[in-house]
Parts: sequence; C-alpha cells; structure tokens
Amino acid sequence: MKDCIFCKIVAGEIPSDIVYDDTHVLAFRDIAPLTPKHILVIPKIHCRSAKDSKCTPEVFSQICQAVQKITSQENIEEFRLVTNIGEQGGQTVFHLHFHILAGRQMRSMG
Ligand code: 5GP
Ligand code: ZN
Repeated sequence: MKDCIFCKIVAGEIPSDIVYDDTHVLAFRDIAPLTPKHILVIPKIHCRSAKDSKCTPEVFSQICQAVQKITSQENIEEFRLVTNIGEQGGQTVFHLHFHILAGRQMRSMG
C-alpha cells in the first residue's frame, strides 16, 4: 500500500534489519527497541490491524508459526507478544504487526 512504511520495508524500499523472511511473513528489529530484543513480525500483505477483515485466521496462523521459528532462532525462551489496535490501543504504524519483546523482566500488565 502506498505511503505505508511497513509495505515499503516489505518491498525493500526502506532498509531494515531483517531476522526472518518467508512467503507470507517478514520480521525485522524495531528501530526504537523497548527491550534488549524487540522484533516486529508482519504479514507481507497490507492489513491495517488485527481488526481488519483481511487479517484472517490464516494470516494469524502464518504469523504464529513465524513467531515460533523466530524465537527459536533468536534463543528467546520467554517473551511478550503484543499487537496494538487503533490509536487508543497505542498503534502508530497502521500495518498489522506483532511486537516480540524479550530480554528483560516484563512488568505485569494489571
Ligand atoms: P505500534 O506503536 O504501531 O504498535 O508500533 C510501531 C513500531 O514500529 C514502533 O515500535 C516503532 O519504533 C517501529 N517503527 C516505526 N518506524 C519504523 C521503521 O522505519 N523501521 C523499523 N525497524 N521500525 C519502525
Ligand atoms: Zn502496509
């Protein structure tokens, strides 16, 4: 999608530190990491968020499978997996992405 930063990363128009790449999913290191390991996992197709009808169970499944491979590859045992939906949910880039946050103790969300 035009003017989408993450679509530009998928197209190779914006450089990124890619850690995983398959037919449907791309993962790269966050430009402003919140944790020692902070990886973004995205579908290659443009979905606005997990609430987008284009975000089907198949897309979720592709992402979950990729998360398992990425965390193994990165030696990440325990981590937080987060997706923000909409401005109130804290979303700033409107192309579906999951954050893998790892490498330090996370606080309880309660
Ligand atoms: P959100 O706030 O939408 O859940 O997360 C967006 C994330 O994308 C943020 O953690 C931000 O640091 C990251 N980000 C924004 N622009 C870029 C970029 O051009 N490259 C990379 N690698 N990460 C980005
Ligand atoms: Zn996009």
